[in-house]
Amino acid sequence: MNTNVIAAHESNVRRYSRSFPAVFTKARGATIWDETGKPYIDFFVGSGALNYGHNNPKIIAPAIEYLLGENILLSLDMYTSAKREFIELFVGLILRPRGLSYKIQFPGPTGTSANEAALALARKYTGRSSVMAFTNAFHGMSLGSLAVSGSASTRKLGGVARHDVIRVPYDGYPNRSFDSASYIDYVLGDPGSGIEKPAAIILETIQAEGGMNTASAAWLAEIQRICREHGIVLIVDDIQAGAGRTGDFFSFEFAEIEPDIVCLSKSLSGSGSPLSIVLIRPDIDIWNPGEHSGTFRGNNLAFVTAGAMCKMWSDRQFATSVKRTTIALQGHLDRLVEKFPRAIEQKRGRGLMAGLKCRSQATVGQVHDVAFENGLLIESSGPNRDVIKVLPPITITDDELNRAIAILDHALQEHTHDDFPNDSSASHLATRN
Ligand SMILES: *Cc1c(COP(=O)(O)O)cnc(C)c1O
Repeated sequence: MNTNVIAAHESNVRRYSRSFPAVFTKARGATIWDETGKPYIDFFVGSGALNYGHNNPKIIAPAIEYLLGENILLSLDMYTSAKREFIELFVGLILRPRGLSYKIQFPGPTGTSANEAALALARKYTGRSSVMAFTNAFHGMSLGSLAVSGSASTRKLGGVARHDVIRVPYDGYPNRSFDSASYIDYVLGDPGSGIEKPAAIILETIQAEGGMNTASAAWLAEIQRICREHGIVLIVDDIQAGAGRTGDFFSFEFAEIEPDIVCLSKSLSGSGSPLSIVLIRPDIDIWNPGEHSGTFRGNNLAFVTAGAMCKMWSDRQFATSVKRTTIALQGHLDRLVEKFPRAIEQKRGRGLMAGLKCRSQATVGQVHDVAFENGLLIESSGPNRDVIKVLPPITITDDELNRAIAILDHALQEHTHDDFPNDSSASHLATRN
């Protein structure tokens, strides 16, 4: 493997190249090949940016045609026909069928640009400065997003003070017996709580980086009720959980809530091309023209592929097959949890945004290494990195899914033998909770 030029010149900050030491050259659907021709099934999918698989022909074909046609590639926020078509498709095929009505802001192309815009707008709209954010949240790597993130190392990054954030417990934190929504409701109504009314509450319906923690439908509905009662803007960061990941287009559909602001990025373009949008309840859209900007908010190639992604959702068969894959994956994971109690503590996540909480970080490390060796890419998450992220493309075939699960099964089997050579220590761990 020749990586000399990269290792010599790329910053020490590089990370995934260390956990997946191969030079990748080709990819299609759920499979990615390295330059020796070895295939891997991709359960990492660009950390959720490739939900529709690599080089999905339904998405790439219109992009190739667009590139060959001397069309507009960059337009800032000028009118273009590609933008007009994307908005028509997104409104007509995604928002309207779900009874949603939002204005669409195009910020810079990364997820964190969308969150920054959402936070700035909520602060402007309410005239308040603080924001409520949750334990184990992850919202991105620019200052405003870092401030609302939960991880200690993430929050320290940048070396400057992070003011105006009120940290509150997420659903199920620190355990299921604590009712965090009631707590939030109480402190907002109590003049003695020392907690000021925030401009916004920002949340992920599933905390992917935070360890695949899920919020229940009842909790989400209660947080929405609290926001409405207190005049607080509810921002859902759907950057990783949205665009089909949970089996629905938006991750909050199952809870039947309608957030005031929704941030989308990662898989929104369907192609891996950078694109972000902020969906804004129309009366909150009080931006002045040009007040918020970004050079790459007019990535027209991403508009084309995002439009093709929207069209996929108008095909009933596509939506049905995603649901079927969701059920298959959850069944596989239930079986793994049952089969490997010494390695796995519990199943986490929802839909195709799943995780396996393991008993230790070492377990996850070993499973990762054996899986990689055998042709499966997986990543870890959580504050202690002891959760295996299971993120197949939502378009994965049954055959690819079965093969990937067999590799994961094999890796879990290897691990159990290494760590627990005799049965007595193993049964002790199996009953521990
Ligand atoms: C990835 C991610 C972000 C940040 O997106 P970038 O494109 O890396 O800036 C924000 N929120 C969530 C939930 C994410 O998963």
